[in-house]
Amino acid sequence: MGPALPVRIRRKLRGAGRRWREARMFARAMASPRHPIVVHLIPIRRCNLACAYCNEYDDFSPPVPLETLQRRVDLLASLGTTIITLSGGEPLLHPELDALIRHIRRRGILATVITNGYLLTPERIRRLNHAGLDYLQISIDNLRPDNISMKSLKVLDQKLRWLAAHAEFAVTINSVLGGGMPNPEDALAIARRARELGFTATVGLLHAPGGHVQPLTAREREVYEQILELGKSLYSFAHYDRFQKNLVRGLPNEWHCRAGSRYLYVCEDGLVHWCSQQRGYPGIPLEEYTRAHLEREYRTVKPCAPYCTVSCVHQTAMVDWFREHPREALTQLVHSVGARSPSSARLLAWLLLDTRNRRLFQKLALRVLGIERRAA
Ligand code: SF4
Ligand code: SF4
Repeated sequence: MGPALPVRIRRKLRGAGRRWREARMFARAMASPRHPIVVHLIPIRRCNLACAYCNEYDDFSPPVPLETLQRRVDLLASLGTTIITLSGGEPLLHPELDALIRHIRRRGILATVITNGYLLTPERIRRLNHAGLDYLQISIDNLRPDNISMKSLKVLDQKLRWLAAHAEFAVTINSVLGGGMPNPEDALAIARRARELGFTATVGLLHAPGGHVQPLTAREREVYEQILELGKSLYSFAHYDRFQKNLVRGLPNEWHCRAGSRYLYVCEDGLVHWCSQQRGYPGIPLEEYTRAHLEREYRTVKPCAPYCTVSCVHQTAMVDWFREHPREALTQLVHSVGARSPSSARLLAWLLLDTRNRRLFQKLALRVLGIERRAA
């Protein structure tokens, strides 16, 4: 792709390629439960900020050497991983992050970075473009910095404008609710600003250590609903309905957490954990992690599941819910959102709820995407 093309065009072209790879990834995940869908890989635990609610950073750890990280990516590729998310700490503090992203892409895996955004400059964004980054997510906690978090729109707005002008990868802005954040309205203003700049806006629920949530206040729930109204993708409705609707009311969810199987958290020491909130389980070195471990953890019932807020694990669980119970999943989705149901949900319901349509659709999708039914 020549440098003479404007960013807007390059972004569109790359977006089309990314969506194609995502469709293949989704088809593989639907065809088989035997590989990880998302892996969080930690290249550095050190962070340049110190958010009061965070238990996932320190202020001294050195970066994990590039060769070690590349070896971890190779091991994850051999397990069939489809998405690797680099977080931390602050991943942009890693001096060889671009080489790591290139390596992930060479192994045919989607590359995502979660950052606090402080180190972004136009030049840094261009380097991430060249490295082949697919997604970048920034979490913004408030409008002005306070003693809980420095991740504020006031500080980061310039970074967002640079992203809008230069990024060829997809950008998601996540705002948060709960956990004692003093101004819930901030989350709505952040989500609106994200949409205004052409980004995806999501909202997360702050969790206590252990991954569970306190019920939101009435005002927080109102803000939460308003943010959901800003993004009407099938996914936002499905995700909202399946998990967060209960959590915002402090009610438990009935679901099967597939952490350790469809989702892995690989810490800076190279150990596999269920997730960032359940370090130590199973705590096995990635070198020793086998398909037998993936299968065992697929079945393991996690006691922390009912009140869990770890949304990336909910997302991977939704794929298996759809795969195993397409009729129930779609019926529940379409009924619960009723008239607000997006057209994509109604189309999927028509395609998948009728057995004959479903068989035809699956055959066609797998053939078009070049995926074997028994793919690992
Ligand atoms: S920026 Fe992220 S990793 Fe750093 S302290 Fe805040 S929440 Fe934790
Ligand atoms: S339910 Fe799963 S994702 Fe949630 S805290 Fe427990 S192990 Fe982690």
